[in-house]
Amino acid sequence: MTVETRKIIKLFGKQKALDNVSFSIKKGELVGFLGPNGAGKSTMMKIITGYLPQNSGEVLIHGDKISIKNLDYKQEIGYLPEHNPLYTDLYVKEFLEITAGFYKLRNKKQRVAEMVELTGLGLEQHKKIRALSKGYRQRVGLAQALIHNPSILILDEPTTGLDPNQLEEIRNLIREISKEKTVILSSHIMQEVEAVCNRVIIINRGKIVADGGISEIKNQSFKRNQVVIAEFNSDVAAEQLLSISGVKTAVLQHKTWEIEAETSADIRPAIFDFAVKNQLTLLTLQERQQNLENVFHQLTQNHN
Ligand code: ADP
Ligand code: MG
Repeated sequence: MTVETRKIIKLFGKQKALDNVSFSIKKGELVGFLGPNGAGKSTMMKIITGYLPQNSGEVLIHGDKISIKNLDYKQEIGYLPEHNPLYTDLYVKEFLEITAGFYKLRNKKQRVAEMVELTGLGLEQHKKIRALSKGYRQRVGLAQALIHNPSILILDEPTTGLDPNQLEEIRNLIREISKEKTVILSSHIMQEVEAVCNRVIIINRGKIVADGGISEIKNQSFKRNQVVIAEFNSDVAAEQLLSISGVKTAVLQHKTWEIEAETSADIRPAIFDFAVKNQLTLLTLQERQQNLENVFHQLTQNHN
């Protein structure tokens, strides 16, 4: 076990930002930490990296509990905080050298050169950070997170705000890095996690609502109620659809109905019969495919 959290609780005043969060991540895993804004992702990452104390619960890095008294774990963790705060007045190379200095690295110059090479900053290294595009700033952020060669990398929303080309470049870089390291990356965008990670931990309002392989989580959702998209050639009332055997809910969205079944059993034949009986023509009748996006929405809807 490389990163383990046990029953983490974090309070901000009366608000429980994290409510009993436990998970364990093995060496070499590339895990997506997915949740809507305000779910508690950044708070959890700050606790793992030791920047914020929890109210209760434990974090174990390589099996050792982290604490103020035991700072050795800092050497094992690289951290790219949300919004990637950088000293924009510094030159790229200068900034990386200062970072290397924090870790008291002996081979500072060589290490900076290696990071510049790894993150593709060769042409930018003599520029001021403020002159860099967002994509290149993210590379600087990754370079500083990696400079002390940590075995664990914590990346808080590393791809937010990038354009599609930059996005693909940073994703590739993260995939490359993850071959040798344990990586946890957070995102509020499920496509992001689906594109990069093998495993996803979904958090909502401070609680973990799903944890598993991406395909495993999608399969779980197949056991959920079937959802059918149907479109008729003329108006139909919700009550009519609700009277069909096996139908639980019917919601009109634009021109199409989203009809949820009571179980995972197929209600399409019953909807077809209904159309025939009422002399309606079915323009669309299809099962909604479960993808991670649907699962994410189902799991993180606000049930107020
Ligand atoms: P996420 O990163 O998933 O968007 P955060 O971890 O930043 O979520 O925040 C989780 C919740 O905790 C939010 O409701 C946020 O407003 C609250 N929160 C975060 N940091 C603080 C703080 N320093 N003081 C008070 N509330 C905070
Ligand atoms: Mg955040």
